[in-house]
Amino acid sequence: MIIVEKTSKLLSKVKISGGGRCNVTHACFDINEMSKNYPRGGNFVKKLFHHFFTIDTIQWFEERGVKLKKENDGRMFPITDSSQTIIDCLLREVNKSGIDVIINAEVKFVKSLNEKFELVFSDGKILTADYVCVASGGFSKISMFDWLRKLGHTIEEPVPSLFTFNIPHHPITKLMGISVDKVRVKIKGEKLEQVGPLLITHWGFSGPVILKLSAWAARLLKEKNWNFSININWLPEFNEQTLKVKFQQLRFEMATYKLFSKNPFDLPQRLWEFMLELSGIKKDLRWADLNSKDVNRFIHLLCDSEFEIKGKTTFKEEFVTAGGIKLNEIDHNTMMSKKVKNLFFAGEVLDVDGITGGYNFQYAWSSGFIAGKAIAGFSK
Ligand SMILES: Cc1cc2nc3c(=O)[nH]c(=O)nc-3n(C[C@H](O)[C@H](O)[C@H](O)COP(=O)(O)OP(=O)(O)OC[C@H]3O[C@@H](n4cnc5c(N)ncnc54)[C@H](O)[C@@H]3O)c2cc1C
Repeated sequence: MIIVEKTSKLLSKVKISGGGRCNVTHACFDINEMSKNYPRGGNFVKKLFHHFFTIDTIQWFEERGVKLKKENDGRMFPITDSSQTIIDCLLREVNKSGIDVIINAEVKFVKSLNEKFELVFSDGKILTADYVCVASGGFSKISMFDWLRKLGHTIEEPVPSLFTFNIPHHPITKLMGISVDKVRVKIKGEKLEQVGPLLITHWGFSGPVILKLSAWAARLLKEKNWNFSININWLPEFNEQTLKVKFQQLRFEMATYKLFSKNPFDLPQRLWEFMLELSGIKKDLRWADLNSKDVNRFIHLLCDSEFEIKGKTTFKEEFVTAGGIKLNEIDHNTMMSKKVKNLFFAGEVLDVDGITGGYNFQYAWSSGFIAGKAIAGFSK
């Protein structure tokens, strides 16, 4: 068996993954729940997880001396907090299995000839093989898939996923660094929405809720050329009606307090003050003196603030490309192409992508394991 790699190093993405710690998988042990974290390919990964799931990943690494730990949000990392631990473990396995590695070898074409293959490299060299597994990762442009299209495969157009939203020069960016534990963000005029932590940055909005929304809406937002509006509910436990009732109660309970000084919700104080200012409420106004016009304007802002998004910023920590080879052309039991016998695929080259949290690697391990096992079986 031979691994061919176009750069001078194997596993360079693993090295930089998870901020250098490698978020190997997610501590989710229910296949249905896990598969809900893939904006594209959820049904496909569900089938793969029956062969090799999160528990198998944890066990696989543990059997090879690498213990994983779970963080509060479910992400799993090696206990060393170093991606090098994962790389060392994988490379030890490569050595143990006697796999040859050829680096600085870019495959330009794969020719399929009578169930055998010829790999043509950029320097003109040729390698023949009985089985080929393409695990080339995703590509950002459809033309970069041409060598796979020539084999008879169809490509779902690649689009960026997992990015943050820009709101250039909006006054809220003055609050950069502030995070809110739970907000609801909705794309205006669409059904797509997500709930989760939000981070205000100097260029706009980031944090898990934004990244998740960017992944689920990846294709739609590309169509809009990343110019669109969002509505944020800063208190997602309430809607405008229920918040009105809460405000009536607060006016009574906090009558003598100034609105600016006492924040009855768990919102960051600076954000609370920003919202009060934005709705035109005077600095020294007491709860008892709130008139219904002020209340309505303030409640509307808290439940339904609108922001115009102008462009995106790539989230460097865990960027993936949505799109790739269409899944109906792949047999999920073996990862073999339905178009070309003995040609296999694994990882991001297919039209599967997950949100952040270890989902992308789990899919890469699952698909790689199935392809490897199938090839080993066929080549006996
Ligand atoms: C900065 C960053 C951090 C990330 N962190 C995480 C994380 O913590 N957890 C998580 O789950 N996911 C993370 N991801 C996503 C994850 O890294 C990918 O989903 C995963 O690496 C995909 O694996 P792959 O094997 O399909 O492709 P890749 O890891 O991209 O590997 C493909 C390999 O093929 C080589 N190659 C490509 N074309 C050719 C060719 N023609 N000839 C020869 N070789 C070729 C490439 O050089 C590369 O080495 C992160 C991504 C980025 C960019």
